[in-house]
Amino acid sequence: MFHSARLKLTAWYLLIIFFISLFFSVTVYQMLTSEVDRFVAMQKAKFERRFMDQDFLPSELRNKLQPPQLMIYIDPDLVNETKGRIALSLIIIDTAILGISGMLAYFLAGKTLVPIANMVDDQQRFVGDASHELRTPLTALKSAIEVNMRDKNLSLDDAKELLINAKDQVDRLTHLSNALLELSTSSSNKNSKKINTFESSNAKKVVENVMSEMKSIADQKNIKITSSPIDLNLQIGERELYRVINILVDNAIKYTKDGGEVQIKLAKNKKSGIIIVNDNGIGISKTDALHIFDRFYRADDARVYATSSSYGLGLSIAKKLVEESRGRIKVTSEVGKGTTFVVHLPLHQNQEQTK
Ligand code: ADP
Repeated sequence: MFHSARLKLTAWYLLIIFFISLFFSVTVYQMLTSEVDRFVAMQKAKFERRFMDQDFLPSELRNKLQPPQLMIYIDPDLVNETKGRIALSLIIIDTAILGISGMLAYFLAGKTLVPIANMVDDQQRFVGDASHELRTPLTALKSAIEVNMRDKNLSLDDAKELLINAKDQVDRLTHLSNALLELSTSSSNKNSKKINTFESSNAKKVVENVMSEMKSIADQKNIKITSSPIDLNLQIGERELYRVINILVDNAIKYTKDGGEVQIKLAKNKKSGIIIVNDNGIGISKTDALHIFDRFYRADDARVYATSSSYGLGLSIAKKLVEESRGRIKVTSEVGKGTTFVVHLPLHQNQEQTK
């Protein structure tokens, strides 16, 4: 598919170059041939003037030759041959230009198409992964329903159990479709979204909200969440900031053993506000750390701790949201010791003025 697109693009480049060089060649040809004609006319005028002076021809020819016969001295075949040679030179130059630019055009067409090819590959992989993830709970749901339908002695308790399982699968699917929607909305906005400098959020307030929402989950695992907030006004929508911190804290709790600790810190430097989420959980290996921001990536070691709503989409959503607000997200981790996520986001103008 991309080979034919590359060839088509090359053909378009060549067509444009062909018309440009044709235009210039015709212009150059006309200029040079009119120079030749001017030269011929000037030579002729010069001969005529000399002829009139009678000192140009040998004495025996004087008064015998009339001006038209002078044309014998400016050979028209020579003039035509000169014009022909000009045309031939231009054709050779044009052919060379077309040959060289054909190769260059093919190379450039390849370069132009690389990002598009990558995007299409990425999109296809995304659709493939998404349908795979969707198929798993659907298949489980379908086979459970079929088995129970065939069971003639299905009791009320069995039917209730089936419904409970079905609801779990539907919850999983809802969670997944929400995550997919969130990811596709933010990726389609990526290029078009202009950062809104009026958008701001109070990071301290958002951290407090996330902490109160996560408290019950952390309590279940006996995990202590602490925060050291400072006043921080960031240039990002409140909903987006909430989502980013929520994903990081949710992961920190998920991948930390019972009785562990999660810390949320806020800080700032000259240009950006910094959010740090640190845990003393299972950690991430160096190889996994290279991929955890990829969609659907889950480290094997982490699968034991993952919940039914772990699809490997959280960090890619967080990364997209942060980058859309011109921020950046980094991870440092040591297996068995813990993980730290650091998010840099631009300070809102009000915050910069009050520094
Ligand atoms: P998931 O829904 O599976 O948690 P994420 O995109 O949020 O998906 O995370 C991707 C992977 O990164 C996880 O499966 C896990 O392997 C790893 N990970 C993320 N956060 C942590 C953490 N705080 N500690 C250890 N591993 C983590």
